[in-house]
Amino acid sequence: MKAAILKDAHNFVIEDMPSPKINETELLIKVKACGVCHSEIHQWDHKIEGLKYPRFIGHEVSGIVVNKGKNVSKFNLGDRVALWVDGKGYAEEIAVKEDRVFPIDDEISFAEAMAEPIACTTNGVIKANIRLGDKVVLVGTGFMGLILLQQIKLSGASEIIAVDVRDEILNLAKELGATRIINSKNEDPVEAVKKLTNGEGADICFEVGGNQATLDLAPQLCRMEGKLVIFGYHPGQRVIRDLGFWNWMAFDIINAHFRDLRTILTGSKIGMDLLNKKMINMNPLITHIYPLEQINDAFNAAKEKPKGFIKAVVVIE
Ligand SMILES: [Zn+2]
Repeated sequence: MKAAILKDAHNFVIEDMPSPKINETELLIKVKACGVCHSEIHQWDHKIEGLKYPRFIGHEVSGIVVNKGKNVSKFNLGDRVALWVDGKGYAEEIAVKEDRVFPIDDEISFAEAMAEPIACTTNGVIKANIRLGDKVVLVGTGFMGLILLQQIKLSGASEIIAVDVRDEILNLAKELGATRIINSKNEDPVEAVKKLTNGEGADICFEVGGNQATLDLAPQLCRMEGKLVIFGYHPGQRVIRDLGFWNWMAFDIINAHFRDLRTILTGSKIGMDLLNKKMINMNPLITHIYPLEQINDAFNAAKEKPKGFIKAVVVIE
């Protein structure tokens, strides 16, 4: 089988490898799609100290069951499935344990069916514990923000305010349920959110962008004793500029990053159910599709974010 191996910065190489062997509890999946994750881009963009190269990454995988161990009971050959795996996804085949596999309905495309990011947003929304009528702000409405937005809507928020710097994704945020969109390049989000919340700030503020600017802005939009949810992925160093302010405002600070496999698998199951029931729509979020041979272009797009970019997915025909 063919696999894309990250040899160096900006350098995936396609190599022939033996098919993965499966044990009694595993399935062999013919990979159909693997999403390019924000958390992988820095590993591709430059060699990270302490990480071993060559690397075999890719964890947002979906495909078809082509073989299974004798103890696998819930899946059959030919089933369409999404997986939770911790790598090796940019390849024609992958082995996976049965408890990390989730069925996909026929009407959902492989590129849409990404269990891992959906698990993250699902767990984030569950941990934030949104109550009926809450006013919620999202700071950053890229791929993860737009999934969160739909799940926050399902949770009964009365106001969902989307803050970003790109008009085209803010327009999509509106279509997907944002009650108000704010381009922070053209409008002061602090003033705008105050106006929408009787001068108080939002009940819940999700920091989604994963950069210093969104981390600085999010607490300014949150009300006293509101929930400040740090959802964005923050590789490298970030500075909390004013912990005194966070403390004074008595924020309930929620770290919405999940590491325990049991939590991730529970989130995957709940999230994939919502997708299969069409309660969340991933289709408009998949904007850039590449064959395996063009995986470096996929990563370049994910880094550069050309106009209209939301998510790059590598698809294997
Ligand atoms: Zn991911």
